[in-house]
Amino acid sequence: MSDIAANLADVQARIAAAAGRAGRDPAGVTLLPISKTVPEARLREAIAAGLTRLGENRVQEAKGKAEALADLSPRWTVVGHLQTNKVKAMLSFADEFQALDSLRLAEALDRVLQAQGRALDVHVQVNTSAEASKFGLEPEALPDFLKALSAFTSLRPRGLMTLAAFTPDETVVRGCFRRLRTLATAAEQDLGQPLGLSMGMSGDFEAAIEEGATLVRVGQAIFGRRATPDSFYWPGEA
Ligand SMILES: *Cc1c(COP(=O)(O)O)cnc(C)c1O
Repeated sequence: MSDIAANLADVQARIAAAAGRAGRDPAGVTLLPISKTVPEARLREAIAAGLTRLGENRVQEAKGKAEALADLSPRWTVVGHLQTNKVKAMLSFADEFQALDSLRLAEALDRVLQAQGRALDVHVQVNTSAEASKFGLEPEALPDFLKALSAFTSLRPRGLMTLAAFTPDETVVRGCFRRLRTLATAAEQDLGQPLGLSMGMSGDFEAAIEEGATLVRVGQAIFGRRATPDSFYWPGEA
């Protein structure tokens, strides 16, 4: 077994165990493998090990990989902050976007999608940690944001996404996850539809599942440690 296949089996077992502790069906938790910085050859191994979808933080890197791996046609999700000038590039390969955090971006996405006659699944990113990340909507802004989003009919809101505070203090981390869950429950009432909870990464996905995550975004626990520091992806992080 390759190290990726072994890591994947381990992560899947940990997902099942965490779901079990929370009295949840493991089938209610989707694993989105995050492949940033992982080179093409390793991704071919990962797809051979059974992965069918991949998540990336940065459009430029992801687009190159999507082109290189076109013969295997994995599904691509972008999970990182997006500038409006990258919308077309993203839509050339991704079929899901999890970091929607402004109406300006929603409008830019909708314009291109309408022209292409297609729709896109999106998650709205919420900043549940206040101090720890500068991306994502403030929690108080979410209800109005979701109302305004309904004008952009090519965007299908599937859930909320967050990054918990980067701290070893599990109480603080769980507080972020609970905040997202509470926000989703209120938003589901307003929208009249269920919303997924995209929360939890390599260091905290088990806690996230115990707090209700329906999708976990896991990179390093599957592909091994990243050399690039997290501050590269989340400006403002130590
Ligand atoms: C990199 C990344 C992850 C996964 O982080 P790991 O520590 O590799 O599990 C999750 N979400 C986002 C938005 C990311 O950029």
